Amino acid sequence: MESKYIPVIGLEIHLQLNLQNKMFSPEKFEYGAPNNTLTTPITLAYPGTLPTFNKEALYSAIKLGLSFGSDISNINYFDRKTYFYPDLPKGYQITQDKTPICKGGRIYFDVNGKEEYINLTRIHVEEDTANIKIIKSGNSNIYNNNGDKITLDYNRCGAALLEIVTKPEFKNSDEVFYFLHELRRIVRFLKISNCNMEEGSLRCDVNVSLTQGNSKAGQNRVEVKNLNSIKNVKTAIEYEIIRQSEILNNNNQIKNETRTFVPENNTTKFMRLKENSSDYRYTREFNIPPIVISDNEINNIKNNLETLPREYKKKLMSEYNLSEYISDIFLENLDMLHYFETLAKTITNYETLANWLIGPIKKLLNKYKIEINELNIDKNNLCELITLVIDNKISYSTATQIVLEKLIENPLKPTQELIKELNLTQDLETNYIKSMINNVLTEYSNKVVEYKNGKKGILGLFVGEVMKRTKNKANPKITSELIQKAIEENY
Ligand code: ADP
Ligand code: MG
Repeated sequence: MESKYIPVIGLEIHLQLNLQNKMFSPEKFEYGAPNNTLTTPITLAYPGTLPTFNKEALYSAIKLGLSFGSDISNINYFDRKTYFYPDLPKGYQITQDKTPICKGGRIYFDVNGKEEYINLTRIHVEEDTANIKIIKSGNSNIYNNNGDKITLDYNRCGAALLEIVTKPEFKNSDEVFYFLHELRRIVRFLKISNCNMEEGSLRCDVNVSLTQGNSKAGQNRVEVKNLNSIKNVKTAIEYEIIRQSEILNNNNQIKNETRTFVPENNTTKFMRLKENSSDYRYTREFNIPPIVISDNEINNIKNNLETLPREYKKKLMSEYNLSEYISDIFLENLDMLHYFETLAKTITNYETLANWLIGPIKKLLNKYKIEINELNIDKNNLCELITLVIDNKISYSTATQIVLEKLIENPLKPTQELIKELNLTQDLETNYIKSMINNVLTEYSNKVVEYKNGKKGILGLFVGEVMKRTKNKANPKITSELIQKAIEENY
């Protein structure tokens, strides 16, 4: 039965920027450092300390905003969002309340091949909080209300975050699913965050409510937190739609509440009734002066912006004739994509080139646990090798199984020289021609009979066919001899 309720869904997304330093204190920031090793008195809010400011965070926000067509604020004020919790040593979080760096904008994405978009309310900059970790075993002597042992890790405290708030325009969980994939792809393209949900560099809260027809009156919404994968976001939305529908069907009210996702049974659990935003007592953070971004700075970022993945995909599919499948693989790995485009200046058999990169080259990278930029094969050598295979000078299997590794061991040696030293060409060439001859003779078996019956002129046809198949790379004299020998021996 078609449900009589229409879901209304909006997202609040936090991106942890991959900057070297924190946003409001000067120390380094990196994921995975030992607990409480990346802290200073500023992070820990010792009395008398003042925040610092890292303008790079604003540049990242502008990059993202410009990609979505947002309006960028030239003057940026910062505010204190007050709440008391151990993850905030200052007792307030520095954020942007009424004056976000980016306003509006729109993100396009595909849902099962159909283009959709969602409008954004805002993107603002703020500081991350400390990480409160519940530990099963360990030597912490701090406990939470449930009696779990916890550690407070202040490494993350003060790191740069962007918060992206969408309009409540999603109509179902699929839209959210594809939207988040596209957003992650864009952010990785722009290289401003790793977007790793497990490590917490991409965090997403979903707001779900139900309407009936056009009446939005009286519909409270539920916010679900602690979603650590895109799949869980989808699952949580689907669960909430069912849960809320049942409540409404029983003529009960949805409460304005915050819930948490329970991955063990794919449900959500009540956390707290939603605070009114006035509880946060926003006030201006006067310790940070208004940060002015000039039009020049904005234009500079605009002029250096990456082509967005969806546009890039169109380019890959039209200019290089790549399949959607291969294009998507490249779009997940920008360095690989740039590598492809560099080599494509030399090798115009784009599909073959692409298959080399996502096949044997990728395998090599996995084996040595390196990225494509760390591959020490000279690009010219690699092009030469691929060309040799395209021209049937050596076989694909020899090239990928033997020569590739040798190119790594001898990065300065030209491919041709290496192959000569390894004594690979001669035999392989002959073997390749022999297999072509075999194909031709099998296909033209009736002509072989005529030849054997004395029509010796047919030899020319066979030679011609083999030449054609080896793109004229075979030596006609040798080919002719090999054909005669093959007929004598095998037919
Ligand atoms: P608040 O000020 O209460 O945080 P916002 O307007 O900032 O509310 O919205 C917070 C999030 O809630 C946004 O992602 C928005 O899309 C979403 N949202 C707003 N109204 C609804 C609604 N009726 N149903 C579902 N989500 C909503
Ligand atoms: Mg909000």
